[in-house]
Amino acid sequence: MIKFDLKCDNDHIFEASFDDSDSFEKQRKKKLIDCPFCGSSKVFKSVMAPNIASKSNSIAKQKRNQEKVFANYNQQIKKLKEEVEKNYTYVGKKFPEEARKIHYGEKEDKPIYGEATEKESKDLIEEGIPLIRLPFEKKQKKKN
Ligand SMILES: [Zn+2]
Repeated sequence: MIKFDLKCDNDHIFEASFDDSDSFEKQRKKKLIDCPFCGSSKVFKSVMAPNIASKSNSIAKQKRNQEKVFANYNQQIKKLKEEVEKNYTYVGKKFPEEARKIHYGEKEDKPIYGEATEKESKDLIEEGIPLIRLPFEKKQKKKN
């Protein structure tokens, strides 16, 4: 049995059960289905619009937007990470040391990246050594 929402030519909406879609069509053609309100046998399947509550809809929309923004953000970080990994030399925890050497001309000026503690970063900045905090996890061990 399937239930259909039916509508007569007078716009009355009612529900009726049929064995299947064919059964409904057959009965409809034979005018065996009457509107319970006005007795009209001109009945159609009522097409119902999907129910979307405006509140939950806007939440869903908001969530989708957030996901989009987040996806873009992740995309950009990924790009940045790729750029860094491609063009910068990884020095790991020796970053403060290496950054100083480069800054004071003890070493060839080349772009590096690595890890530094909060304090080490602060000290470097205070010494006038430019550094940028990267918005991604520290690099996993890489075999060179
Ligand atoms: Zn009717």
